[in-house]
Amino acid sequence: MRATTATIHLDALRHNLRKVRALAPKSKLMAVVKADGYGHGLERVAQALAGADAFGVATLADAERVRRAGLKHRVVLLSGFDEPSDLSAVRELGIDCVIHHESQLALLERLLPPGPLSLWIKLDTGMHRLGFDPGQARRVWERLRALPQVAELRWMTHFACADDGDRERSEAQMARFREAIGELPGERSLANSAAVQAFPMSHGDWIRPGGMLYGLSTFHRRSGRDLGLKPAMSLSTRLVSVQQLAAGEAVGYGATWTAAQPTRIGIAAVGYGDGYPRHAPAGTPVRVAGQSARVIGRVSMDLLAIDLAAAPAAEVGSDVLLWGPELPVEQVAEAAGTIGYELVCGVTRRVQFAEARAEPVSAAA
Ligand SMILES: *Cc1c(COP(=O)(O)O)cnc(C)c1O
Repeated sequence: MRATTATIHLDALRHNLRKVRALAPKSKLMAVVKADGYGHGLERVAQALAGADAFGVATLADAERVRRAGLKHRVVLLSGFDEPSDLSAVRELGIDCVIHHESQLALLERLLPPGPLSLWIKLDTGMHRLGFDPGQARRVWERLRALPQVAELRWMTHFACADDGDRERSEAQMARFREAIGELPGERSLANSAAVQAFPMSHGDWIRPGGMLYGLSTFHRRSGRDLGLKPAMSLSTRLVSVQQLAAGEAVGYGATWTAAQPTRIGIAAVGYGDGYPRHAPAGTPVRVAGQSARVIGRVSMDLLAIDLAAAPAAEVGSDVLLWGPELPVEQVAEAAGTIGYELVCGVTRRVQFAEARAEPVSAAA
């Protein structure tokens, strides 16, 4: 079998959950598990994070998967409903739903589906993606309150720049949210991972962390590990070939990298077909047989070339780590011009997944 494996560290998920709780001890915690638990596998993530108070999902299909995994938690459909049939599914699954647009409000008023519905009114305080205009908050609340099928109402908004630590913009969003709701009742939720860490005054009744539960960093040039989090995914494979290049010989498609001197290289069984970023340039860090090494040449669909100068003990069959506790995914992402979130979400189906229950052995341990 192909060695390419994403190992999910369940204890790291639990460690990160405790860490988040400690940062926001007064708030309830909605663990965001959209995009298949940020690529870690929705069911295993939800089970490992069963200590959360709720789960946030982006699609009805994911809400159904949480329920089928036997979890009875509050589940919040962050995107809200589009069609009448969505509302029946929301009812059948017994989940909460975000409402962010006039069209959804009109649909609810027209349909009067049987209740009870628990809704989260989303206000657009500056992200300009989803949400009602804050000036409409009272009117939306009154229209929803008038519907017999609506049982519970809560409030939420989403930060645009909490990850840049943009205090001014984030504080303006908080103020807009507070002023829009005024004295109206209902629990409030603002904070994603970055705000949980950077803006304690944003915690409110419910925090909504995603990335930090997986040990990811949202902050520029910092890894999850720097923030006291443990990476929940290791992507690894093995060397399937070792070659000795003479000076002047080139590697891979386009011959983009040429050996300046005699160089021993290894070929690892991983490529962009597995979700390793094709844009990772020569010099992107990897680990081979426990040693730091670097990518050379272009990333292929199935294979990756590595300079073994710093890993003389490496041979065919040696372990290769693409990212994990010993090599923060943020370092690979930075080299490839993206963020760790995209890399872990992008691991493809042909990669086998495994679960590790014990704490990963890591520099952070
Ligand atoms: C994805 C998402 C989150 C979680 O964001 P992180 O940066 O992963 O913590 C929170 N709230 C909403 C509405 C989201 O879509």
